[in-house]
Amino acid sequence: MAVVGIDLGNLASKIGVARRRGIDVIANEVSNLATPSLVSFTPRQRMIGEPAKTGETSNFKNTIGSLKRLIGRTLSDPEIQEIEKKFINAELVDVNGTVGVRVRYLGEISEFSATQLVAMYLAKLRDTAAAELKQVVSDVVIAIPGWFTDVQRRALLDAAQIAGLNALRLINDHTAVALGYGITKSDLPETPETARNVMFVDIGHSDYSVAVVAFSKGQLVTKGTAYDRHFGGRDLDYALVQHFASEFKTKYKIDVMSNPKAVFRLITGCERLKKVLSANTEAPLNVESIMNDVDAASSLKREDFEQMVSHLLDRVSAPLDAALKDSGLTLDQIDAIELIGGTTRVPAIKERIQKWFGGKTLNTTLNQDEAICRGATFACATLSPVFRVREFNVYDMTSYPVKVTWEQEAGSPDEDTQLVVFPKGNAIPSTKILTFHRAGPFDLEASYTEDAQIPKGINPWIGRVSVKGVSKPDNSDFAVVKVKTRMNLHGILNFEEAYTVEEVEEEETYTVGEGEEKKEETRKVKKIRRKDSLKLVSGFTGLTDEVRNQFQESEGKMHAEDKLVMETEDRKNALEEYVYDMRGKLDGRYAAFVQPSEKEALMKATQEAEDWLYSEEGEDANKSAYVAKLDELKKLGDPVAFRWREGEDRAKAAAALREVI
Ligand code: ATP
Ligand code: MG
Repeated sequence: MAVVGIDLGNLASKIGVARRRGIDVIANEVSNLATPSLVSFTPRQRMIGEPAKTGETSNFKNTIGSLKRLIGRTLSDPEIQEIEKKFINAELVDVNGTVGVRVRYLGEISEFSATQLVAMYLAKLRDTAAAELKQVVSDVVIAIPGWFTDVQRRALLDAAQIAGLNALRLINDHTAVALGYGITKSDLPETPETARNVMFVDIGHSDYSVAVVAFSKGQLVTKGTAYDRHFGGRDLDYALVQHFASEFKTKYKIDVMSNPKAVFRLITGCERLKKVLSANTEAPLNVESIMNDVDAASSLKREDFEQMVSHLLDRVSAPLDAALKDSGLTLDQIDAIELIGGTTRVPAIKERIQKWFGGKTLNTTLNQDEAICRGATFACATLSPVFRVREFNVYDMTSYPVKVTWEQEAGSPDEDTQLVVFPKGNAIPSTKILTFHRAGPFDLEASYTEDAQIPKGINPWIGRVSVKGVSKPDNSDFAVVKVKTRMNLHGILNFEEAYTVEEVEEEETYTVGEGEEKKEETRKVKKIRRKDSLKLVSGFTGLTDEVRNQFQESEGKMHAEDKLVMETEDRKNALEEYVYDMRGKLDGRYAAFVQPSEKEALMKATQEAEDWLYSEEGEDANKSAYVAKLDELKKLGDPVAFRWREGEDRAKAAAALREVI
């Protein structure tokens, strides 16, 4: 069984696999360690990851990124409309109440939900891992931002399931990093009282997170977290885009911002320029035929760039302040600082972080691009039976408080109508038993509290449950009902079970007196005993089984079609190659082994095959047609090839014999 961890990044994702000798971040089909987080649609097939990136410029309207920003959201979400739209070129639409895209695929207009897009992408990562490991990939741990809410987490689990993956855990990005840090350190303090407090600072392409984590031997405890959900490399890129767009307005008399394709080209150029500026004090910008046949060129000094993004740099300190406050620690108590994420490479950002920490050293003992992925893979290894991993306890916590509400029942001694069951900072996973006094069935609703800092556009509603089969007991006005509520390993809330309990009187023996006087007596005590299990009917935000199955089926179909398209292409290439290869060899190494009549037949057949390949029919035939044509040619060519091979072997044997004598 494969053990796989995924860092689902906004720009690109990484895949880790566990092997006996350790964890490797694996390369994809073009030997990159990070796979672009892109899905695209063409008239022939879907392109996912690298090929989507390659074709992005020419097919940018049907290429979708920002996958993790879209999943679990609605079309009307202000963050989608006001922020994400800037970074997405495909048309956004509503698909069953969630955000999705309208694209041109196989010559038709199709719509896919964000959950489906993430599923497509995860399936591609699954294939990459399976190709590397040469085995089926099912169990995974996927790292996600700690600020993801219940609806986003459920949507991601749905996506994993659609992709045929079994997500053993959705792990918060910073928790994955912390696990990777802790499990590989052999010098952690012995006791939690003397724990080493580490602050992890991760600034990626789209978001920024800070976590304070306490490490001691065999365990980590998340003490505090804070986020800026809209702060990352892409915001720096966008500031550059605005600068150059305004420069080009006067310089070239073009309005880049009015042309989505031009904006896209400029973003690509600006990201490159930004990276060059991390190592150089000045960098050039060249965007060929940005629009109206203009080749745009410019350059920028690092100091000007820093001035241009000063409003963003000013935002570096807030999450650091908030995370430290959340942890209840003071800066003096922070023992180490670890920087991760691509955007902490920007010198001005690093400077701001350094300034905040004063004289403390910023460490980069972790691989800043791989830390999340490695940690997620460790988590998968811990949860999977395949590997024996050193015991390491992870105490993660909830980012937002969750409450449960209900309606009062007349006469019931239950006074409240709500309870904050999992306050912010509550451990994950965690189970709480709620007690109710009821004479009939009742409903519970779970939601984030009003003061939970969830993204504004996300509905705070988490789910509902109806507790069935409750009735008034004979000996009392109300049944005592217990409802088991669980915040699971994914950070998702569920009502797991409900049952009635009853108070029973039991006889208990106890001893009185001492020494000689000692004797046993009995007394009656009241005990709570579990009585009947109750049926629960619950509704949460995830997909219904029916819809999920339908998406799974259609994903399987598209996957099979893409595979067929690729295999067809492969067989077509094989036929083409055989034609040219055979012709060359007939005049070369096969010349001495071919009869004139055979040669004539082969020349004729290869010519016919070539003509067919470039005819309308042969250009776009199905796989079996290419296979059949190649078989025909091989029937003629194989005897010649066989004779040549025999001749070669004979010559080799003769040479070997000569050497012996
Ligand atoms: P997120 O964590 O937001 O989902 P991600 O995981 O894809 O996104 P990372 O891989 O951590 O993001 O970082 C990518 C970002 O870092 C991009 O914006 C990229 O331009 C930027 N980046 C990478 N290298 C450098 C560099 N040398 N200088 C400046 N920026 C860089
Ligand atoms: Mg990241």
